[in-house]
Amino acid sequence: MTALVFVEHVGGVVDELSLQALTFARGYDDDVEAVAFGGTPAVTGVGTLHVAEIDGYAPQAWARAIASLAPTTVVAAGTDRGNEVLAHAAAMTGGVFAANVVRADGDAVTRQRWGGSLLEEARLHGDVKLMTVAPHAVAIEEAAGEPAVQPFAPELEEADLVARVVERVDTSTGGLSLAEAPVVVSGGRGVGSAEGFASLEELAGMLGGVVGCSRAVTMAGWRPHTDQVGQTGTKISPDLYIPCGISGATQHMAGCKGAKKLLAINSDPEAPIMATADYAVIGDVLEIVPAITAELRRVRA
Ligand SMILES: Cc1cc2nc3c(=O)[nH]c(=O)nc-3n(C[C@H](O)[C@H](O)[C@H](O)COP(=O)(O)OP(=O)(O)OC[C@H]3O[C@@H](n4cnc5c(N)ncnc54)[C@H](O)[C@@H]3O)c2cc1C
Repeated sequence: MTALVFVEHVGGVVDELSLQALTFARGYDDDVEAVAFGGTPAVTGVGTLHVAEIDGYAPQAWARAIASLAPTTVVAAGTDRGNEVLAHAAAMTGGVFAANVVRADGDAVTRQRWGGSLLEEARLHGDVKLMTVAPHAVAIEEAAGEPAVQPFAPELEEADLVARVVERVDTSTGGLSLAEAPVVVSGGRGVGSAEGFASLEELAGMLGGVVGCSRAVTMAGWRPHTDQVGQTGTKISPDLYIPCGISGATQHMAGCKGAKKLLAINSDPEAPIMATADYAVIGDVLEIVPAITAELRRVRA
């Protein structure tokens, strides 16, 4: 049996979560192939790399391309794209799809539910199995060996290209994405207003990071949804995560589990976020954050 891994990449550099999906697939099947879109990524440790000739992101078209390779097992990263494309591919192949899997052995899978707050044991009954791998559930193991690259032009239906990316708008983060930033300074309801984020922007800038936020903030219209961290936002894995005025709801924590260190700033010492914080400052975010920035400025002067 062969596992086909849908690999996401930017300019040929394979996404970290796709490297995790490749590692997962190698543990699941002896024979692993990959499929990519928009260029040829630097994938190693797979027999064949199929490169689909489709311009731009079009979930249904990408799924059609995957289905045309007649796979029996498809693996992807548990990203927005991984989940979207595999859901379409499952519908096209009549396969069974499990999202956010952490372990798999034959038909048996263990997957995250409820933003990772519980694990579900399930069985995949079907000739075609599709799985996305929960972000940061698998440690990357590099594998050597250049693949045979096989470009292909899948036969598409007109409807496959109805939903597609037609334009990209640059964010204000100067190219550093929330998902990949080494430091994320996030604000929650405790920040109090859109204007309150100015000091978080300044701190993030000084630490070479970006600003994130909780859903309470995007719901209030203080920040765009692209800044949201969590189950229905971006999954992040920075070296340092600084949630400011964020209570630590399970849906928020589902997005920042991958953080190496967590420094919580909150006025409530009993806030749930304290249970996972490595460091905490108890106090008013509007006083603490400017104080940290001022101290950084002083020691760097
Ligand atoms: C299906 C579903 C999906 C969801 N997805 C997400 C998601 O992706 N991301 C997400 O974040 N949420 C998500 N949520 C919402 C989540 O359940 C919480 O409601 C949300 O995370 C709360 O945001 P918050 O921590 O900013 O606000 P609150 O829970 O209101 O917490 C505010 C915190 O600020 C502290 N505080 C108040 N004033 C100050 C101050 N001056 N200084 C310092 N601290 C202060 C308080 O002590 C409190 O801990 C989802 C919910 C559902 C149902």
